[in-house]
Amino acid sequence: MNTYNCPKCNQEFSAGSNYCKNCGYNLSIEFIENPTCPKCNKSFPAGSKFCDIDGMKLISQDKLAAYHRYTEASFGNRFLAFFLDGLVMTALSIPAFIAYSAGLIKLIDKQGDSPTPLFILAAFLYIIPFTYTLIKDGLGRGQSLGKKAVGLMVLHLPDNRPCTFGQSSLRNLFLMFFGLIPIIGWLAEPIMVLVSENGRRMGDRAANTMVIELNHIRYVK
Ligand SMILES: [Zn+2]
Ligand SMILES: [Zn+2]
Repeated sequence: MNTYNCPKCNQEFSAGSNYCKNCGYNLSIEFIENPTCPKCNKSFPAGSKFCDIDGMKLISQDKLAAYHRYTEASFGNRFLAFFLDGLVMTALSIPAFIAYSAGLIKLIDKQGDSPTPLFILAAFLYIIPFTYTLIKDGLGRGQSLGKKAVGLMVLHLPDNRPCTFGQSSLRNLFLMFFGLIPIIGWLAEPIMVLVSENGRRMGDRAANTMVIELNHIRYVK
């Protein structure tokens, strides 16, 4: 069995170890024994992380076949999922909307107690739809409710697993941020989906994710 040195503390470990016994470094995630570039197929020495030709993050040789089996989600399906998640978010916003409306009624009424507590309550209730929008792609098998309905999933490419809550938050923060910039910002990520390789928008690149058609693939556990 091959032995390697921990990239962090140089302690020797044998192939297949999950953690460094000296410093606890997560070798299962950070160390790839047979790294290969998913784009140009070049092989690299054990422990390499990025391709020196095109900068792609390297993946394990044995996950290469699965990587190439994925079918990129169509733009239409992604838009439909986005629309459905918009409906979910609207529904989740109803409690906040009710509290806000009740506050407005008190404000106009000018009688009785202050509307401020209702406005504060509305702000707190708005955390529900806000949180959903951030973490939605980490639900189930990398599927927001909209994506589940349409048959899409978000895959984390380096480890070939469904998107986590953290990865979902990262990729959706980009949409939220661009959403603050009228017109140009709203178009930025949809245009990226259309023109970029594998339909990976900026949020997908940051989180190392890709949206795939679930019906066409067998993802590797
Ligand atoms: Zn170590
Ligand atoms: Zn490459």
